Amino acid sequence: MNPLYAQMPATIFEKMSALARETGAINLGQGFPDSNGPEDVVAAAARALSEQSNQYPPMAGLPVLRQAIADHYRVHQAIDLDWQSEVTVTSGATEALAAAIFALVSPGDEVVLIQPMYDAYLPLVLRAGGVPKLVKLQPPEWRLTEAALAAAFSPRTRLAILNNPLNPTATVFSRAELELLAHYIVAHDALLISDEVWEHIVFDGQAHIPVMAMPGMRDRTVKIGSGGKIFSLTGWKVGWMCAAPALTHAISRAHQFLTFTTPPNLQAAVAHGLGKNMDYFVTMRAEFARARDRLSAGLSAAGWAVLPSAGTYFLSIDLASSGVTLPDDQFCEQLVREAGVAAIPVSAFYADDPVRSVVRLCFAKKDDTLDGAIERLRAVRQR
Ligand code: PMP
Ligand code: GLN
Repeated sequence: MNPLYAQMPATIFEKMSALARETGAINLGQGFPDSNGPEDVVAAAARALSEQSNQYPPMAGLPVLRQAIADHYRVHQAIDLDWQSEVTVTSGATEALAAAIFALVSPGDEVVLIQPMYDAYLPLVLRAGGVPKLVKLQPPEWRLTEAALAAAFSPRTRLAILNNPLNPTATVFSRAELELLAHYIVAHDALLISDEVWEHIVFDGQAHIPVMAMPGMRDRTVKIGSGGKIFSLTGWKVGWMCAAPALTHAISRAHQFLTFTTPPNLQAAVAHGLGKNMDYFVTMRAEFARARDRLSAGLSAAGWAVLPSAGTYFLSIDLASSGVTLPDDQFCEQLVREAGVAAIPVSAFYADDPVRSVVRLCFAKKDDTLDGAIERLRAVRQR
């Protein structure tokens, strides 16, 4: 077996969800809503399943979805994409990440990764033979600094991977931070994979900034999105990557031997969803913000130190500031087994020298689910 995989445990999301199933805990670990997504989008998938072709769709995706992705970004983010040469549908953002990393990284290339980082990045970079160069963000602000970038970039930098909004910290990078990163990418003649799966889940009136639109970045950026995330249908695994024609061409060669295509009925339904009017997206954000505030207020009232959440489905509690001395992984293990709440230790998002006092909770849940978890976490503090 390839040694990279031989030594690898199951992902923290799988581990905590399995423990939640086993113990009957409330699952605020893995990021998924406990509702069934927008009814019209689900109905569009059901209709397409019985009324449209179930045979292989084109490798780059159904034209109707690729057009919908380009239109969606034109309307929501003022980006102009040519749907035929710049948009590829993938099986979730995960496959887009794999295809982009495999196509762009050659053995020995340096890849700048920002910690804490989504768990798929590092194994994919290592499998491609890349050499990780780690930038570390410091809690509670988790800001990107010039000193950290200067230390990570070198003449051998081929690629950097950005996740904005950032899972797990629930932070949104500022325009100044994105400009700084863009400056380093351009100055080093490098490329950027910009994982923007949380682009619609930003709060408090902020607008998502696509780094592809920054000076010098149009032809250097692979912008990745996820229909599963946008429509709270996380099991669907319909994602995409948008990039200039030369990059798209290279990445499609990796895509064709990873999955080749994605179920056509789900593609048709995501195309329908992307065309929803602005009100839908505004209301969706407001509902997630309300859930965030409910969980945050409940946990604060129970005495937990809650870190701010500017986007994503997540907020975090700071164990040290809450007076808990256990490391995050031990705390999560006890929490699920003894208190009946599954959460995610943020140390799982590090390659080295992890922050060990921050625990991530998913608030994309019904009020009853959140209230039940708040009650259990209140009881933990009282013990
Ligand atoms: N990137 C990030 C930052 C994520 O949080 C996730 C899933 N939560 C993914 C990629 C994977 O998305 P998908 O389910 O579309 O593969
Ligand atoms: N991205 C989801 C999260 O952060 C999990 C996805 C997965 O389980 N692979 O919770």
